[in-house]
Order: sequence, then structure tokens, then C-alpha cells
Amino acid sequence: MLDVVIVGGGPAGLSAALVLGRCRRRVVVLDAGRPRNATSHALHGFLTRDGVPPLELLTIAREQLRPYAVELVDAQVAAARRHEGGGFEVELDDASRLFARRLLLATGVTDRLPEVEGFGPLYGKSAHHCPFCDGWEWRDQPLVAYARGPGAADFALLLTSWSRDVLLCTDDGEGPPPDDAARLARAGVALRVDRVARLDGHRGRLERVVFARGDAVARRALFFHLGTGSTGDLAAQLGCRCDDEVGVHTGPREETSEPGVWVAGDASKDVLLAIVAAAEGAKAAVDIHRSLLREDSPG
Ligand SMILES: Cc1cc2nc3c(=O)[nH]c(=O)nc-3n(C[C@H](O)[C@H](O)[C@H](O)COP(=O)(O)OP(=O)(O)OC[C@H]3O[C@@H](n4cnc5c(N)ncnc54)[C@H](O)[C@@H]3O)c2cc1C
Repeated sequence: MLDVVIVGGGPAGLSAALVLGRCRRRVVVLDAGRPRNATSHALHGFLTRDGVPPLELLTIAREQLRPYAVELVDAQVAAARRHEGGGFEVELDDASRLFARRLLLATGVTDRLPEVEGFGPLYGKSAHHCPFCDGWEWRDQPLVAYARGPGAADFALLLTSWSRDVLLCTDDGEGPPPDDAARLARAGVALRVDRVARLDGHRGRLERVVFARGDAVARRALFFHLGTGSTGDLAAQLGCRCDDEVGVHTGPREETSEPGVWVAGDASKDVLLAIVAAAEGAKAAVDIHRSLLREDSPG
């Protein structure tokens, strides 16, 4: 039986694998190869790696796992359950199975994207979800915040850290409540609640937002805030406490409500940055190693 199976080979999973590998644990990382930021041209805000292509970070991480007893397998995990004899059974897409004493889920999240014509070619180039990741590149440029619902006004106000020229488009015909509209007006954020027909751009560069009534507003970049969903239901299959807002609930060491199962990275929806995901992976790995030691040398 393996010591640990890690599901997900993004920053969280690979960081955990590195720490566990260096603890001489036998680890398998199962990864479906769809990292959340694959469409992005550059990863920002990751100490010593600011601006690297996101996949380059993962390539370096995988290379640096070579000296250790960590196996990297390209595979989609279909199911996970407790095994009668102790530990966990993990079932892959091809129906093969792995058995491990501990399980770390580092499966990330799924972004809800704007369903607006013209969005696809802009995504990751001049349409972003995270101002902390990409705001600096668009400082002092005309920006559009595409958001609706309770957090829309706060999201548009956040963008004023990078530009004084922000337009909030709710594209829902309703807009924010009066209090929020007043806060936006005080901060100089423009507001359009009417329908967006399409986004016009060239070579991945946003040029204008075109509204259904026919007029258009010139903008250089779009930031959207529509929430995230879970990537699959492995945590729920295992009985871990989870919900839409928080994702999988975790304790201070990334442990879940289910003994033997940890969750690191975006899947536990804390701060959704790659360096935080990596840090959570390292924290989970230390805790997993200690829990295995305790099991092997009971007091
Ligand atoms: C467009 C974009 C740009 C971004 N830019 C930045 C940035 O500049 N700086 C920054 O810090 N953060 C950025 N982020 C956020 C960053 O991508 C995430 O915080 C980070 O990737 C989270 O790492 P993770 O390991 O938790 O998840 P992920 O990187 O999403 O990795 C999860 C992995 O698990 C795999 N997986 C999921 N389910 C299964 C399964 N059932 N079986 C097997 N494998 C599975 C997936 O295929 C994926 O490879 C950006 C995000 C997006 C969407």
C-alpha cells in the first residue's frame, strides 16, 4: 500500500509531493492535466517566479521531484472511498485502482466564465478573473468589471486600486442595490446594468464592450467575478464537509472533516493564488507525514 495518493498535480499537489518525497514517503500523484490557469500567458505574484508561463512552473516542479519516491501519473480519478482493510481505494478512469494510507485532494476549482460573445479569445490575455494576478499589467487603463450579485460593487471598487477608469457591467438588467450604487458613484466607478451583446478585440486584446442597444464603450481589459465551482465530487464522495461558498472545509493544517483526508489549494477556496496553493500543499504534507508517524509509533 502507498503512503499517500495525491489527486491533482497543480501547485498544491506538487508542493505536497515534494515535501512528502523528501520525508521518504511513497507517493503517487494522479493528474488529469487541466490546471486552472492553463489559458494564462504568465503567472504573477509567485515569489522568484513572477511572470513565468504557468506551465513552466509545473514543469520545473515535476523535474525537481525526480530524486524522490514520487510517481507522477497522467490520469483522471473517477472515485475514492475508504477501504475495508484501512486506508483508501482510488479508482481511475480506466477502472484500475490504487490503495493508500492517506489521501490528499488538490483538485482545484472551476471558474464560471462570462457567457458573452467574443470572450473566448480574450481569456487569459486581456480578460482575467483575478486583479491581484493581472491588475498591475493594466494599471491606469480603462477597465471593465464584469460582475453581478452581492459582491459586484466590491469587485469593481477593488479594481480602482489599479485604475481610476472603471466601468461595472452587470449584464443582468438589474444592477446593484441603491447603497452599492451610491458607493460606486462616490468612487467614480461608472455603471451599466443593460445587456452586453459582445466583446470586440483583436489578437487577444479587448477593444470595446458592445451593448445590446447598439452603443459601445472602449476598454483595454476586463475582469470578471462570477464565482467558482468544484472540480468533481471526490471530497463529497468521501463524506468531507463542503459547500458552494467555502469549497471543502479544512482545519489549520488542511485536514478535512474526514480522518485521513486532506485538501490543499484552491479546492478549499481560501486565497486563490498559486503560491498559497503551494503553501497549503506543504502544510498538508507535514501534517500527513506526522499522522503516519503517529500511526506507526503509537504512544
Ligand atoms: C486565467 C487564470 C490566471 C491566473 N493567474 C494567476 C496568477 O497570475 N498568479 C497566481 O498566483 N494565481 C493565478 N491564478 C490562480 C491559480 O491558477 C490557482 O490559484 C492555482 O492554480 C491553484 O493551484 P491548485 O493546485 O489548487 O489547482 P490547479 O492548478 O487547478 O490544479 C488542479 C489539478 O488537479 C487536476 N484534477 C482535478 N480533478 C482531478 C481528478 N478527479 N483526477 C485527476 N486530476 C484532477 C486538474 O486537472 C489540475 O491539473 C490564475 C487562475 C486563472 C484561472
